[in-house]
Amino acid sequence: MDVGEEIYEIVKKIFPINRSITGGGVRETLQILHEYLPELKVYEVPTGTRVFDWTVPQEWNCEEAYIEDEEHNRILDFQTNNLSIVNYSIPIDKWVTLAELKELIYTQPDQPELIPYVTSYYNRRYGFCMSENQKSELKEGNYHIVINSSLKDGSLSYGEYVIKGECKEEIFISTYICHPSMANDNCSGIAVAVKLAELLGKQQNRYTYRFIFVPETIGAITYLSRHLEYMQKHVIAGFNLSCVGDNLSYSYVPTRKGGTLADRVIDNILTYHTSGYTRYSYLDRGSDERQYNAPGIDLPVCCFCRSKFHVFPEYHTSADNLTFVSKEGLQGSFDILRMCFAVIEMNDLYVCTTLCEPQLGKRNLYPKVGQKGTYQSIKWYQDFLAYADGDNDLIDIGNHLRVSAYLLIDVVRVLLENKLIKVKDGKKGSF
Ligand code: ZN
Repeated sequence: MDVGEEIYEIVKKIFPINRSITGGGVRETLQILHEYLPELKVYEVPTGTRVFDWTVPQEWNCEEAYIEDEEHNRILDFQTNNLSIVNYSIPIDKWVTLAELKELIYTQPDQPELIPYVTSYYNRRYGFCMSENQKSELKEGNYHIVINSSLKDGSLSYGEYVIKGECKEEIFISTYICHPSMANDNCSGIAVAVKLAELLGKQQNRYTYRFIFVPETIGAITYLSRHLEYMQKHVIAGFNLSCVGDNLSYSYVPTRKGGTLADRVIDNILTYHTSGYTRYSYLDRGSDERQYNAPGIDLPVCCFCRSKFHVFPEYHTSADNLTFVSKEGLQGSFDILRMCFAVIEMNDLYVCTTLCEPQLGKRNLYPKVGQKGTYQSIKWYQDFLAYADGDNDLIDIGNHLRVSAYLLIDVVRVLLENKLIKVKDGKKGSF
C-alpha cells in the first residue's frame, strides 16, 4: 500500500464518527489515532475552564435523533447522516405541525440536493438539516421530532504528539478534530498529520516536531492558553492543516506578518512542485491560523490547504464525502509538507570556503572532459556556490536558482562533504 492509500484508509475509518468540539466522537477519533501513534497523549480540559477570553463549554453527546411522520416512517435519521441535526443541539422530544417543523429545518437552497453542516455551539437551540429538495416535498401533517442528546459538565479533549529532535526549536503542526462526517474538512487534515507524524517519528530529526489534534477555535485557544510562552520561545515554523485531500489546486493562507520561515518554505515548495497554487491573503483566514497569528500570540503558523475552506462548492455540505477526497490528493499534500520539513532541517546560511570559484575537478565534481552538454551536471554546484555568500539560506538560494530548495539538499550535502561550503559562523540553528 502506498502512503496515499494508507492516508485514505485513515480518512475512511474516522469519517463516520459524529464529532463536535467536545464529546465521545472526539475521544473515539483520538483513540483511532492512538493506534497509529502510540505515543499520542490525550488531554481533557474540564468544562468551565477559562481559556483567555473563552470558557470550555459543556460536553455534548448525541445518542440518536430523528423525525418521523404520523405513520412512524423516519423521514430523517441521525444514524444515516450525522449532518442531519444542528451540531450541539439540545434535547427535544415532541410533536409539531409541518409549519412548525419547517421553522426548525436548515437547508442550502443554492445546492438543493445537499445537506448543509450547521452548528450552534454557544446558543442553546436545536434544529435539523436536510436537502432543500427533501424539505420542499414534506407533506402536510404532524411530525415527531426527537433529539436524544445531552449537554453536561465534562471536558474538552485534544491530542498531542511530540517528537523530540536534536534541539528544542520546534516545527508545529496543528489540525482540527471537531467536524462530523466530512472528508476534506477535516478528516483529510487529521489523516495527513498522522502519517507525517509517523514518518518523522521514525527518523532522526534536528528539530522537535509538535503535532496537535484539537477542536477548531476553542481547542486551539485552550492549547495556546497552556503553552503560549514555551511556543513563543521555541516554534520556528508552523502549519495548520485544513482541507488537504481533494485533487484540485493547492493553496495557503500566509501568516499575518508574512515572510516567516513557514511562509518562505511553503512558497518555494509549492512554486516548484505544483502546476500552480493560490497564495491567499491573511484576510482570507478561517481556520486556527486565526488564533496562532492573533496579536500577542504571533506564532509563525500559516494554513496549508488544497482547495481552501469556503472556496470549494462541497464545503460544509454532505457532498464533502469520501468520493471528494482521493489518495492522490492526500498523498500530494503529504509530499508537499514532507519536503517543507526536509528543507527546514537543512535551512542554514551557507558560505563558500574559497575565494573565486573552487576547482571542482580535483574533487571529482567536474566532468572529465569539458564539452557542451556536460556542463548541466555541475551547474547546480556552481550556482549554489555563486550565492553561498553567508547572506542566503537554502530557501533563498533555491529562489535565486529558480529551483525547489528540496532538490538542492543533495547539492548542499556534497558541498559540505567536500568542505566547499560551511554553515555561517560554524553553528547550526540559524533561523
Ligand atoms: Zn469547517
